[in-house]
Amino acid sequence: MQGNEFLSRKKAELGVELNEVQKRAVLHTEGALLLLASPGSGKTTTLIMRIGYLVEEKGVRPERIKAVTFSRASARDMKDRFNKFFPEFAGERVAFSTIHSLAFEMMRDSLRKQRIDYQIIEGDAAELEEEIDFEGERPPLHKKLILRELYRRVAGDNMTDDQMDELTTYISFVKNKLLPREEWGSVKCDVKDAERLLAEYERFKRGGADKLLVDYDDMLVLANEALENDRELLRKYQRRYDYVMTDESQDTSLVQHAIVEKLVRAHGNLCVVADDDQSIYTWRAAEPQYLLDFKKVYPRAKLLKMEQNYRSSRNIVQVANRFIKRNKNRYDKNMFTDNPEDEPIVVHRLGDYQLQAKFVAERVAEEENLREIAVLYRNNSSSITLMNAFDRAGIPFYMKDGDNRFFSHWVVEDVLNFMRMTFTDRRPDLLEKIHTKMNGYITKQQMAALKAVTNPDSVFDNLMNYVALRDYQFKLLQECKETFERMKGMAPRDAIQTIRYDLGYEKAIDKMCERLGFRKEYLIGILNTLEDISEGLESMESFARRLKYLEQVMKTSRRRKNENAVTFSTLHSAKGLEFERVLIVDLVDGILPSNDDIKKYENEDVADMEEAVRLFYVGMTRAKKRLELLAYERRDGAKAKVSRFVNAVRRIQNPEEFTGIGIGGKGAGGAGGAREYGGAGAAGRPLGAKRSAVKATVVRIDNPGAKAAAARNPNAVREAELLKAGSSVEHRAFGRGRIVRMRGDQADIRFESGEKTLSVATCIEMGLLELRGGRP
Ligand code: ATP
Ligand code: MG
Repeated sequence: MQGNEFLSRKKAELGVELNEVQKRAVLHTEGALLLLASPGSGKTTTLIMRIGYLVEEKGVRPERIKAVTFSRASARDMKDRFNKFFPEFAGERVAFSTIHSLAFEMMRDSLRKQRIDYQIIEGDAAELEEEIDFEGERPPLHKKLILRELYRRVAGDNMTDDQMDELTTYISFVKNKLLPREEWGSVKCDVKDAERLLAEYERFKRGGADKLLVDYDDMLVLANEALENDRELLRKYQRRYDYVMTDESQDTSLVQHAIVEKLVRAHGNLCVVADDDQSIYTWRAAEPQYLLDFKKVYPRAKLLKMEQNYRSSRNIVQVANRFIKRNKNRYDKNMFTDNPEDEPIVVHRLGDYQLQAKFVAERVAEEENLREIAVLYRNNSSSITLMNAFDRAGIPFYMKDGDNRFFSHWVVEDVLNFMRMTFTDRRPDLLEKIHTKMNGYITKQQMAALKAVTNPDSVFDNLMNYVALRDYQFKLLQECKETFERMKGMAPRDAIQTIRYDLGYEKAIDKMCERLGFRKEYLIGILNTLEDISEGLESMESFARRLKYLEQVMKTSRRRKNENAVTFSTLHSAKGLEFERVLIVDLVDGILPSNDDIKKYENEDVADMEEAVRLFYVGMTRAKKRLELLAYERRDGAKAKVSRFVNAVRRIQNPEEFTGIGIGGKGAGGAGGAREYGGAGAAGRPLGAKRSAVKATVVRIDNPGAKAAAARNPNAVREAELLKAGSSVEHRAFGRGRIVRMRGDQADIRFESGEKTLSVATCIEMGLLELRGGRP
């Protein structure tokens, strides 16, 4: 048979032997096919082989195949994998793309035909413009700017970033669900008047400019309408592709399904691969239910299931399989593997959040093959401290997702402005930026009066001498003045603390959160991250430079995809990927699951909790051999609770640990550094009787660092004094280099790959630097 020959040839060429189900899926090219399968079972691999089979064996022209992926990044990943398998077709044009790019083409065609001018109001270029301050000029047309303006009009107030997220999610949800106007109100949204805002937004896009304004969701809706209403256009696209396949279809939304349905209606050649357990976008209207109803739409569809995992070690597969069964709303599957057992899943319980980033960097520093490591997190905001720690240690990383908002956030700007005031307190323009955010609260009127004073003295003296103040303000402003003077030349870490606590900035943030609904956790998190960044720096100037530098690092790290670098990614963006070693950070209740997930769950609304479970499951199943889960017991002075998911994993992996109460106890760990202990989680029944041969390892660390590092590399430099300008050194990741200059904790070192600035303390703690012969 033609097919079998192809399969044996591929086996010989690539060393990949497909299993029976995979083979059937590859060879079943005509008609509809739903491949419902577990993580790592070879869904994407099968899709790629199927495309190869169509092209190489059945002579189908590559451009007649459409492979729809979830994101641009996954389109690229899939193309890379295809090129590796079928290099002879690498240059050719199999259409791997997102549904958005397909919808865009359809919409463009349709609008052109109708002679309607349009403008896209979402995306990168527009995002850039958003950062510019337009000072009263007419802003460019961008989704968020429009929404912001509408909100101001409707609510008479400024919208916070969180509200913006809520609102755009709501809009996407409504559009992707194809909800008619009368049902908009039935969707919950925490932003007041969301329904009305959406109605205004729609009206504005249709009449607010000389062009029709379209955002990404509109592209989908308009494409779907075009296919529905324009038979000629429908036929054109139907004729363009003979075979359509969609990967990660559990995250396809209703409008997207509707587009695909119409696209394949003529020939019905559609292959859909999905795993309902990995559905992590229902908040954005993904429609996993559609898969369960697949037969209704495609009555003659073939259904195949795959449960064998080829990716992960046996213990990871077993634990993940048991873990996902917490969820009730799912197709029951039983993932298994023939892969051997490997290292147990390790839980690291750190004493404090602050230790985490450094600890991760230290764990990773041991490795040579960095591209096989991923650090995953739920929220983008976790990326900054990680980036800071990795950069200090000189470990290269590729950032798939990072916190874009951080460096331009107003809290960061505020702190820098406070710092600028320590250099001169004679600039009313500086004070104007922070006058409502410090002790002595200067009103707008007082600020205006101050600006009318023309002498170049201290703003505080001018306030006290020439501006009408309330009695209590005199004392407070005098104190502010003295505090700013005292801060001259202060180390940045102390300066930030002074700003927070002595100048009253943190109190002001508290008030703003109450008044404006900002998320306090995030804002305080920014201040704490700034403190982390300032660690070891001697001057406020160097702190400002470091921020600029890190912002740059973040940009360049996005381009490191194909280098030997650790991947930083959100759990969401890690979907479909795999790594030898995976570390998931910030695994505490409040993050994963989030407080919202927990609250709803307690009120018997389980949907969000189940999605959080799936998200964690996606994370776990990225790991081939080593999986490490990181949690901590304190954060920002408050107690933190290890994520219930982590405890569930421990229970599954090591049931006997949970049959008695508090073996090992809370007191374990202590000053002695890393140490194993027997777990102190809530006592509970073991979830299953079956024991894994591999024990869970829980390591509690209060002081990661020096000792362990020294034990690993006995030749590493252990005293800062030994490092001098001119010394020849060898760095774990960068190889040989020469120290150009030493500046306090910072060493500028010239490596072959270029000059780097590294933190001496970090390098010593992690044992990253060796001195090479010829010490100065
Ligand atoms: P996910 O649900 O995470 O997207 P997936 O089902 O798409 O996973 P793949 O990424 O295609 O899984 O495959 C997972 C790993 O298993 C890959 O490394 C792939 O090379 C390997 N693999 C797939 N099928 C086989 C097979 N038949 N024999 C050996 N290895 C296989
Ligand atoms: Mg896949």
